[in-house]
Amino acid sequence: MADYITIEWEDHDFEKTNLVTDSGGYDWYKCKKCGLVAWRHGLGPIKTWMSSNPTPCQKRVESGEIKKVKIIDHYPDSEFGLKYGEVYETCKCPESESHKYGNAVWVFSPKRNEPVRLLSREYTFV
Ligand SMILES: [Zn+2]
Repeated sequence: MADYITIEWEDHDFEKTNLVTDSGGYDWYKCKKCGLVAWRHGLGPIKTWMSSNPTPCQKRVESGEIKKVKIIDHYPDSEFGLKYGEVYETCKCPESESHKYGNAVWVFSPKRNEPVRLLSREYTFV
């Protein structure tokens, strides 16, 4: 259990998978929406392997926290590496921009390796 990370309980829809707490004091969970397996020691934080690298869970998409957008302009393609016609999940607005663009659509740019803001003509919700 070397490379693990702490995740947010609320980000997933966890269901306990072991009937009895195991001998080491661990409880095991699986997300009903995305299948992510995680564990918890007592009432400690819930953890998963780093290699599981939880992508945004369907739970967060359904709650509206994360939306899916389709790129319909060539600018984000050339500037941000967001392929024309492809669908991406929105991400959180960076803290430094939230006072100005907190309600804008932000997508993680693979080219810049940071969230970028899309203009309304550059995407449609899907
Ligand atoms: Zn999940």
